[in-house]
Amino acid sequence: MILRANGLRRSFDGVFAVRDVDLDVAHGELRAVIGPNGAGKSTLFALIGGQLRADAGTVTYDGTRIDRLPPHRRAAAGIAVVFQGARVFTGMTVLENVMVGAHAGTRTGFGAAIARLPRHRREEREIRDRARESLARAGLEDWADRDAGALPLGQQRVVQVARALCGRPRLLLLDEPASGLRAGERARLADLLGELRGEGITMLLVEHDVAFVTRLADRVTVLDLGQVIAEGTPAQIRADDRVVAAYLGA
Ligand code: ADP
Ligand code: MG
Repeated sequence: MILRANGLRRSFDGVFAVRDVDLDVAHGELRAVIGPNGAGKSTLFALIGGQLRADAGTVTYDGTRIDRLPPHRRAAAGIAVVFQGARVFTGMTVLENVMVGAHAGTRTGFGAAIARLPRHRREEREIRDRARESLARAGLEDWADRDAGALPLGQQRVVQVARALCGRPRLLLLDEPASGLRAGERARLADLLGELRGEGITMLLVEHDVAFVTRLADRVTVLDLGQVIAEGTPAQIRADDRVVAAYLGA
């Protein structure tokens, strides 16, 4: 297992957002996490990425406890997050946006990258090369010098994924990356995620579009009211009465 969450718990103002969640994700797996609004999906991601601390429970990554580590240390260990509703930095080029991702694993790096503080020239060149490589993997190399804010939403999402790739993640968390995208943009994003899985990157994907998830995921975890109510292959999930009742609404 690349990721193991055990008994994870987090409440806000006495209300559980994530309640006793166990989650085992195998190396190379693409795991979908679905559930209604407020189910605790984003909170779960924040507990894995380190943006939030758990009230109880453990998170183990590659056999090591990480639940006490700050986000930049988790990023340095290979965990990258594409946050729900994340925006590109406008007024920066696509390449510059992606370069920010190379700093995710350093404590001061992210702020420094946004502020464009001077860096050592060799380091700067390495980061630029890495960012170009990420852009190429994401099929965005021709857009490198454009203003990221001028891109269509679908391309902006791909920029976010490229930025995450720039940190060379082994575990990539994607929180509703396809929301608001048109069908063609969705299909392209799905292709990209499929390619990344082919490269051996383990992914956790939150998505509302069940068809999108079904095509991509190896396994699906269903959250409701902070708890895991079902887990299985996409076919098993679609046939599960509790899931249909809680989420698919049929
Ligand atoms: P999802 O991503 O599945 O829609 P969230 O993890 O965002 O769900 O939210 C789970 C629950 O926790 C919701 O009831 C939400 O209102 C609450 N919650 C999430 N983040 C916070 C926060 N920072 N402060 C207070 N309540 C929060
Ligand atoms: Mg959410």
